[in-house]
Amino acid sequence: MDSNSFTYSWLKIITYNGHALLRHLSWSLISLGVPKGRQTRVICLADTHSQRCDIPYGELLIHAGDLSQNGSATEIQEIIDWLKSLPHKHKVVVAGNSDRFFDARSRLPEDMSTIGLSSGSEEKKSLPNQVDVPFDWGEIHYLQGTSVTVDCSGISSTIPRYINIYGAPFAPECGPNTENAFQYPVSHNPWAGKIPESTDILVTHTPPKFHRDWYYESPEGCPWLLQELWKVRPLLHVFGHVHTSYGTERVVWNDGESRWEEFCSDLQKLPSQDGRPITLASIFRPKLWLDAAMVMLCGLRGLLTIAWRRPERQSTLMVNAACMSDDGHLGNGPHMIIL
Ligand SMILES: [Zn+2]
Repeated sequence: MDSNSFTYSWLKIITYNGHALLRHLSWSLISLGVPKGRQTRVICLADTHSQRCDIPYGELLIHAGDLSQNGSATEIQEIIDWLKSLPHKHKVVVAGNSDRFFDARSRLPEDMSTIGLSSGSEEKKSLPNQVDVPFDWGEIHYLQGTSVTVDCSGISSTIPRYINIYGAPFAPECGPNTENAFQYPVSHNPWAGKIPESTDILVTHTPPKFHRDWYYESPEGCPWLLQELWKVRPLLHVFGHVHTSYGTERVVWNDGESRWEEFCSDLQKLPSQDGRPITLASIFRPKLWLDAAMVMLCGLRGLLTIAWRRPERQSTLMVNAACMSDDGHLGNGPHMIIL
């Protein structure tokens, strides 16, 4: 590690922890204002890749894509049958980039006859990705750029409760496998204006940029999705895709958060990470130090604002529910979120 990246890795650790503390305090204040007795247990999983694991009971089960490993129709139906057998009252599923059958352009040779083409046909590349998917879903809600409202009333109280869920499978291109499903070039924005403002739970396969999307030092999430999240601000966002970033993050939508995202973005532009030579000017980057100071100052101001007037739709719980760990097994358990 060169001195430049050493300096900034420490700056990142300090800023991250300071920001995490301010987020935690802000979130605690926001939680104080949430009425009790409307709680729903939401079980979140993703990236099970044709494997199965123990699933705790909850009123709502969400699978955020990569049900299968190879994406054939047979393999996907087997996993749907497993999900159907679970006792949860409501179940919501989106596809992931490994679930190739759902995107006609990505279907495996063995499944090409389902769209009237021979295996290896180049014609599939010009097909739309929105095609009928002939699976036996039972009571499961499959979402592909669509919404569903589920009734979670009367579970722990008599207060009616309806939850709006929007789901979509799209993810920015990553890695060498361009045959994967629902991928788009990073310059393309498939999210603009698509997520309804009334969305309580957002389910996508990709994470948003800079939030639980770190593949080691590289953020792999979608910047366009992040842009929409700033507008919609759902209560809960469930995703997977980047297996190395399994976990939860409580995001508070204030200046401290936008400064943190700016700090992460500027860190990505460091010369050592671009392979360019290090110069004196590149080591003394006042913008990065200013970013770090502003993360703390704006986060503190945001905390005081919440303490003063508790604004609505101010926070989102983000859950990277990728069950698959680096060794190829389901090392990460499903999350149970009380909403
Ligand atoms: Zn995966």
